Amino acid sequence: DSRVADTWTKTTCGYCSVGCGMLVGTRNGKPVAARGNPDHPVNRGKLCPKGLSEHHILNAPGRATTPMLRRGGRGTPLVPVSWDEALDVMLSRIGALQRENGNETLGVIGTGQLLTEEFYTLGKLVQLGFRTRNYDGNTTLCMASAVSGYKLSFGSDGPPGAYADMETADVVLLVGSNIADNHPILCNRLRKKPGQVLIVADPRVTKTAMMADIHLPLKPRSDIALLNGIAHILLRDGMVDRDYIATHTEAFDTFASFVQDFTPEHVSAVTGLPAETIERVAHLYGTAKAAFIGWTMGVNHSTQGAVTVAAINNLALITGNIGRSGASPFSITGQCNAMGTRESGFTSALPGYRKFDSVSDRDELAAIWGISADRLPTARGLAYPDIIEAAVAKRVKALWFIATNPVVSFPNYKLLEQALTTAEFVVVQDGFFLTPTSEFADLVLPAAIWGEKEGTYTNSERRISKVNAFSKPPGEARPDFDIFLALADRLGLREELYPGWHTTHDAWLEWQRVSAGRLCDYSPFTWQQIEDLGGMQWGGDRLYGDGSFPREGGRALLHCVPCLPFTEQPDAEYGFILNTGRTVEHWHTRTKTGAIPMLNGMVPNAWLEMNPLDASRLDLRQHDRVDIISRRSTVANVELRITGIIAPGQVFMPFHFAEQNSNLVTLGAFDPISREPNFKQCAVRVEHH
Ligand code: SF4
Repeated sequence: DSRVADTWTKTTCGYCSVGCGMLVGTRNGKPVAARGNPDHPVNRGKLCPKGLSEHHILNAPGRATTPMLRRGGRGTPLVPVSWDEALDVMLSRIGALQRENGNETLGVIGTGQLLTEEFYTLGKLVQLGFRTRNYDGNTTLCMASAVSGYKLSFGSDGPPGAYADMETADVVLLVGSNIADNHPILCNRLRKKPGQVLIVADPRVTKTAMMADIHLPLKPRSDIALLNGIAHILLRDGMVDRDYIATHTEAFDTFASFVQDFTPEHVSAVTGLPAETIERVAHLYGTAKAAFIGWTMGVNHSTQGAVTVAAINNLALITGNIGRSGASPFSITGQCNAMGTRESGFTSALPGYRKFDSVSDRDELAAIWGISADRLPTARGLAYPDIIEAAVAKRVKALWFIATNPVVSFPNYKLLEQALTTAEFVVVQDGFFLTPTSEFADLVLPAAIWGEKEGTYTNSERRISKVNAFSKPPGEARPDFDIFLALADRLGLREELYPGWHTTHDAWLEWQRVSAGRLCDYSPFTWQQIEDLGGMQWGGDRLYGDGSFPREGGRALLHCVPCLPFTEQPDAEYGFILNTGRTVEHWHTRTKTGAIPMLNGMVPNAWLEMNPLDASRLDLRQHDRVDIISRRSTVANVELRITGIIAPGQVFMPFHFAEQNSNLVTLGAFDPISREPNFKQCAVRVEHH
């Protein structure tokens, strides 16, 4: 209202993938308040603590305001320089390394924090300007397994369901998903329907597990056995949709034979859950008129992440729980624009979910762009972890990180540090300075952030939402879009790559043409319609309602998914399994939320959760300071919290904190298909500090 602010601007939250609509109030051009947009279909006026305090980030200390260059080389300080000098140095250093070592000596890591229009622009610049395929998003650290799992089962990425399904389902099964901390506004969708049953499978008694009718405290990485075990019971007791299976799936007989071994007794032994509980959950799922399975990082952060997603999809397919109200296998994404970036970029697919290895897809894209198809890659380049390993091996010598902070977010810090120090030229483009990653930079480019630029994000339910500017970037910081155009200008490619472009709306218009007719079709909507309606879902409410899937033959594929032991089992020396995760007050590596006193004051430090039985065995007391030690390194001086929410033999730590960086001890093990890291299980021991 006018007592608080003189102007209210509609926009979309820039933190998580729920995609809440908000109103930001400004007074005399300064952001002073944030409120939930009561008319927005996603959050209906509600915001979590991060959203409510988001406007504070624009006036927070620590913003990057000027380009910074280590002019005297490594070991000398970063000093302010002009944009002209910064961009000239960037292109001359990268150009020299590419001439000497080939174009693919440049590795670029983008982010789900960028606007779709920016990510689309960046993809063209990296592929056609810098001519390297070694390009990925930080989304490989969170969502790549969901992408790969959807492709395995359905032939394409794209979450089939909608948030409304959480309200209309008879049974909601959440696997490895603590939405109460990580997607809090989604909790408002649960229990709307009388008699709805909420089942939460999670080794830890999370806040979400506390809300459940049935909590399944399964052993770490036994989710595949549970999913196969449910399939076994569904088939044994005839709770499957034979017509749907016959018409819309492939490989059913092989799958049915495979899950025969997953008897309730066997699954009980693997998961630690009582056989009768597994039977009950299977019967609830199998007899529901509409059943929903949601998952997040407990599934994705695994060396078997992609196939675990396929195992979830199997359940939905054999029961026909897909493509209708309340019935979906649904990956809840991480970042505000994880979806928009995986649809529009060159990371896991060509723009518009086109396949690298499809001649017709490449021809189609080249024709829209008016270029020869020879200029498009026929296979993806290195994924994020492989770019880091290639930097250690000196095959990648230049690194460009955009709005991401791998020093805190990448597993096995020691390897990452080696990559950052071995690479000959490191560029960090970020809205904040100094970040733990820019400490390693040769060049820092200051970028505008949420609230300072205009475009769109796409949330987990494929809803494209408008993001608006209501504040000016500080100092000389520029929108990422402007930085990409300035680089194209200097490369002499601006008119070829971005003909007549001046704003992100120009990128939007081209992206609409590129996505038109594809599964992820953005062409039917204008920015104004999106803003007026609180976002619009590409593909409509649900995908695959007609049972036709984008695979050859149109059928979804059932997968036989073995349950393999995770990479680093606990032993006599490292006796605990460490699980890592998040808390509601913080966003990823705290670059933003650590600068907001209201949030940081609530949770200023990391902690380690340990079961009372283990604490007593180790003679540890509540709030003792402990060291967490793995084969790779040590996280020192962490507060111990003794609590029954964690099972004996397991410990849990949040990953947000640079000062107590859980990724000093995590494991550099990755899913062979998605390349997503296995953040959820590594072996550690715990000692008095
Ligand atoms: Fe923002 Fe997510 Fe919180 Fe909504 S739930 S206000 S999108 S952080």
